[in-house]
Amino acid sequence: MEATADRGFVPKDLAPKDRWSWVEIDTHALRRNVQTLKGLLPPETKMLAVVKADAYGHGAAECAKVMKLAGASMFGVATVKEGVELREAGCIAPILVLSQPPETAIDDLVAYDLQPALFEFEFALAYGEAAAAANKPGNYHLIIDTGMTRTGVLPEDVLELLRQLDFHRGLVCQGTFTHFATADLMQDWDFELQKKHFDDIIAEMRNAGFDPGVVHGANTPASILHPESHYDMVRVGIGMYGLHPCPIAKKKFDALGVHLDPVMSVRAKITRVAEPEVGSGVSYGLTYRISRPNIQIATIPIGYADGYRRAFSNEAEVLAGGQRHRQVGAICMDQAMFAVEVNQNRTYDPKNPVEVGDVVTLMGRDGYEHITADDLARIARTINYEITCDFGLRLNKIYI
Ligand SMILES: *Cc1c(COP(=O)(O)O)cnc(C)c1O
Repeated sequence: MEATADRGFVPKDLAPKDRWSWVEIDTHALRRNVQTLKGLLPPETKMLAVVKADAYGHGAAECAKVMKLAGASMFGVATVKEGVELREAGCIAPILVLSQPPETAIDDLVAYDLQPALFEFEFALAYGEAAAAANKPGNYHLIIDTGMTRTGVLPEDVLELLRQLDFHRGLVCQGTFTHFATADLMQDWDFELQKKHFDDIIAEMRNAGFDPGVVHGANTPASILHPESHYDMVRVGIGMYGLHPCPIAKKKFDALGVHLDPVMSVRAKITRVAEPEVGSGVSYGLTYRISRPNIQIATIPIGYADGYRRAFSNEAEVLAGGQRHRQVGAICMDQAMFAVEVNQNRTYDPKNPVEVGDVVTLMGRDGYEHITADDLARIARTINYEITCDFGLRLNKIYI
């Protein structure tokens, strides 16, 4: 093979000073993805950016700023604590807590101007009282369970709940929404049925004189696959982070010529390189053994407590110097190892053999190679959502 000047994408050494492993967040990709998703909507349709779980591991405070500038008008969080943190980071946009929190959290909802998704009379009453006492509007969104059986008021109970709450001047219904269980399927009977239940109850609310406020139902897959479910606002999460909720959504996007870029990469630097003798083993249980000479075992300071899951052990690959290498041995809590089959002809690739300090990519691009969240998800039998959430837990996040 010839030496080539073009080595493709070369990852930078962005290691924080305290640890040689980090998550890289590409804010340009994030901005483009939000604009791309917004571009699929009619101009009057709003976008709620879902930043729960620290923006799926990407860092909610930093990401929310980018999303706001790129066209998001509102934010969605899972917990009151997440909402408070977003406010304390300076976010002034409306924030929806996507499920009804415990009543003991009501004082924080009011103090930080967080709108709860609510579905129970007692909660609504207590919230309305607290808001009125603070001289603030008790803004809320009504959540309706149209068939996912997770949370929300059942369609047949909606009107009665609203009648019970009607007298309370402190409460203001800012929106009404539902969540789809099978939005990632096309021509799916269950999706159609949920949508029909939702359309019917919205019509009934209006007929009975109740203003549903901003009506919304679509998550990322519904936004892409079911434009008829956009209503007044969509609630997108995973798509903004450049990941596809399902293979069908990816196909549809490819067909439309719409492109999303993964926002998160995960990198580390090699802390040690050994060239053990044949027969030596690697990591707990010595589940990998050196089978021939000229194999380097490189150590990186990242482990399952950082989201580099133990289930990846001996299955994942890493990239170094634009080449794929096998992760070997059990992944530890804070460290992992990979094997480099040393290239005897050292002329064409300067990064094989590897050295201490070399940048390694666990997820993301290096050269012409790419390891995706979906690649890792497949190994652990999970979905890309869970992969990025986990990588966000302990690693430093570097925004580029
Ligand atoms: C998480 C969540 C979303 C976003 O879903 P994505 O598939 O990531 O787009 C939307 N709505 C609700 C209620 C959610 O819990």
